[in-house]
Amino acid sequence: MTAATDPITVMKFGGTSVADAKHIAAAARRIVAAREEGRGVVAVLSARGATTDELVRMAEEISPDPYPREMDMLLSTGERISCALCAMAIHDLGHEAISLSGSQAGIVTDASHTKARIMEVRADRIRELLGEGKIVLVAGFQGVSTAKDVTTLGRGGSDTTAVALAAALDAEVCQIYTDVDGVFSADPRIVPEARKLPVLSFEEMLDMAASGARVLQLRSVEYARNYGVPINVRPSFGDGSGTLVTGEDQTMERPLVTAVTHSTDDARVTLVGIPDRPGAAGEIFSALADADVNVDMIIQNEPVSANGKAELSFTVPRDDLRRASKALEALSADIGAEDVIADEQVGKVSIVGAGMRSHPGVAAKVFTVLGAQGINIEMISTSPIKISCSIPADQVPAAVKALHTAFGLGAEAVEPEGGPR
Ligand code: ADP
Ligand code: ASP
Ligand code: MG
Repeated sequence: MTAATDPITVMKFGGTSVADAKHIAAAARRIVAAREEGRGVVAVLSARGATTDELVRMAEEISPDPYPREMDMLLSTGERISCALCAMAIHDLGHEAISLSGSQAGIVTDASHTKARIMEVRADRIRELLGEGKIVLVAGFQGVSTAKDVTTLGRGGSDTTAVALAAALDAEVCQIYTDVDGVFSADPRIVPEARKLPVLSFEEMLDMAASGARVLQLRSVEYARNYGVPINVRPSFGDGSGTLVTGEDQTMERPLVTAVTHSTDDARVTLVGIPDRPGAAGEIFSALADADVNVDMIIQNEPVSANGKAELSFTVPRDDLRRASKALEALSADIGAEDVIADEQVGKVSIVGAGMRSHPGVAAKVFTVLGAQGINIEMISTSPIKISCSIPADQVPAAVKALHTAFGLGAEAVEPEGGPR
């Protein structure tokens, strides 16, 4: 039996960590070990390996624009497979486990298919099962909408399932087991000398996730910050202590720049020949918001020629491109724009660091480093602790490496706060 006062641990295992029978057995052993320490254990699992990509491919083979409700019925199956298999492995280790779909676990979302947001977690069934001493396995990345349909939470969404459960159950920590040792100063697959970051603030991790460090889904970090849930990103294939993402600790030494992040999952849309009149941009972005498109970087060129027409470019997640183009094609006739041009893949490289607030020299250094590599910057956006540049996708690895070296982010060298050197 689990006493009501037993500490609860939420553990999430990503796709690579449950890719085959051997890995599922290893995850099962880790889950059982936590239970044997006297903890109530809830484990959230992702779909195995490339299962979700495979399901997306199957849908696109059948339909050029898969019907969203059915897409979610399809996508949600991957994580259920992992949970059922892992529950079997745990039974064989002599413990009681029960697998639940997102809906059975009480994850209630809005009705925005394929990118639903969690509205509420009704965790009473999980609490009851924990009280009976059972290990509870929850299929990540999914929920049930207020309209009683199965929904999914967007790619990487199992992280958000785990954090939401940790918040609802008052877990001490949400452990995210993945295929790297923690959160690094750059994607270790591009920069082998990247440094593992032992502690990060929610703010730094938010900007890292928003600019492409896919080790944690952005929404999971937002959720963790809003509910004060510490996240521990840990290796599935080893015993390292990983990275702790938590509330800002004033005593933490703030490096000027913490990490270089990148993404090649964005697309760019350009609307050309827009009549130059007040309100046009408002109409364009309202249409995109109504179509549930997340716009990232925006650049508007004022009319220079006598015809008085402007041009507007912005980036969106590639998954939103179809919706964005559809919305703008419908709108461009109304506002008198001439054309909508889509660029399927653009790259983005960003530097993130809480210490760079009010250090204009950092931006200058980023542009100089990219210029020296012959990399053309197409758009720029900044926040107090982030500078992002949109660049050609094929130049992303070179840009990440050059910035990582220029800011001295490798193993031994972390710049102290106090200004760029
Ligand atoms: P999971 O299947 O466990 O959810 P993901 O593939 O979603 O794993 O996220 C882990 C991957 O994130 C790593 O394999 C790594 O290539 C990538 N990644 C990108 N940026 C970073 C970073 N700054 N630190 C760690 N991993 C990163
Ligand atoms: N299986 C889903 C994906 O591949 C969700 C996740 O792994 O977090 O995006
Ligand atoms: Mg992931």
